[in-house]
Amino acid sequence: MIQWTSEQLLLKKTVEDFAKKELLPKAEEIDEKETWNEEAFKKMADLGLLGITVPEEFGGINLGAVEATLVMDILGEACASTTLSYLAHSILTVSNLCVNASAEQKKRYLPKLISGEWVGAMAMTEPGAGSDALGMQTKAEKKGNKYILNGSKTYITNGCYADALVVYARTGQGKKDISTFIVEKNFPGFRVSKKLKKMGMKGSPTAELSFDNCEVPIENLIGKENESVAHMMNNLNLERITISGISLGIAKACLDYSTRYAGERTQFGTPLKEFQMVQERLAEMATQLAAGKALVYSSAQAFDRGQRSMRLGAQCKLFTAQMATQAGLDAIQILGGYGYMREYPVERFMRDAKLMEIGAGTNEVMRIIISRELYK
Ligand SMILES: Cc1cc2nc3c(=O)[nH]c(=O)nc-3n(C[C@H](O)[C@H](O)[C@H](O)COP(=O)(O)OP(=O)(O)OC[C@H]3O[C@@H](n4cnc5c(N)ncnc54)[C@H](O)[C@@H]3O)c2cc1C
Repeated sequence: MIQWTSEQLLLKKTVEDFAKKELLPKAEEIDEKETWNEEAFKKMADLGLLGITVPEEFGGINLGAVEATLVMDILGEACASTTLSYLAHSILTVSNLCVNASAEQKKRYLPKLISGEWVGAMAMTEPGAGSDALGMQTKAEKKGNKYILNGSKTYITNGCYADALVVYARTGQGKKDISTFIVEKNFPGFRVSKKLKKMGMKGSPTAELSFDNCEVPIENLIGKENESVAHMMNNLNLERITISGISLGIAKACLDYSTRYAGERTQFGTPLKEFQMVQERLAEMATQLAAGKALVYSSAQAFDRGQRSMRLGAQCKLFTAQMATQAGLDAIQILGGYGYMREYPVERFMRDAKLMEIGAGTNEVMRIIISRELYK
């Protein structure tokens, strides 16, 4: 069992109340309409959640990986897609800037992003470069006091409406010659080329982006040229630990819904919960969830103590992503035909969970990282 501090318990209660009131009632609607819960996003700013890991001097609430994961877990249980957009904003963008940007850049961008005035996104993936992120082809060439970006990015969470984006682009011939830029949506040459249709996480709009001689002022280069690999690494463990919180939340939603259902539904004159094959599914789901929680929160604690092994985040992400997808499938099976129907939420849980095995690095890539670390 996790021993929460009194401050963590207060955060937990506040976020649970918020999720119940602001996220849960809209989860089905935003999935159906493929829109996002902008109202809830603005209210997260009032709770300080948009700058959860950022020091107070830049407007954040200066909490650690444990608290950020706890928030993802609670919000993810209520509405995974809103939580994915929240993750792309608060961790992939805000925390990324906090770790890698200069003090001047932080002063310029963090207050707007943390107050909810601006939405953030992180653009790394390209149509031809996903797992092989360093194979990206988007180029940035320095001309006078500007960088000129050309290329395209795809699958970008929040890309449809982001005001500021952390964008990675090639600045040299070497494989690792990649640099990081802050691009504002109004910069000339930047365009949202397509809103993408997805299987799940539909309440978290995803976009394809185009950079056509996009003009970026040189002061928007983060760090020095060709430093992106270090930037990616600096934030990656936190990304993978916190995104695992979303998987924990989805699995909890699956377990709770199917446990309740199995207690109420009767077949052959007997509640489903009395059938041993149903019991087996529920028991497995509960045990896997407990194991996932123990792994994720102990890894978050290790991260907060300063441990930076890439294995930490990769193990959390791999284990919980598989666990959440399986929980979604099991929940559907326990509900039978009702589970397959759109009017019950478990098919959405499964569609949302499947993304966790792909986004922020696929299961296969996590296995590669873990096995590589075993030989270090
Ligand atoms: C909904 C959604 C939101 C996303 N949000 C963002 C975002 O905000 N920003 C962003 O930059 N990206 C985002 N992504 C992109 C995501 O990180 C990539 O989809 C992911 O890294 C995989 O890349 P890919 O889709 O190109 O698959 P590919 O790399 O083409 O992989 C296809 C398959 O091949 C396997 N494979 C690839 N290489 C190997 C290997 N060496 N060994 C074994 N198997 C391998 C993969 O595991 C996978 O099963 C998002 C994706 C989705 C679907």
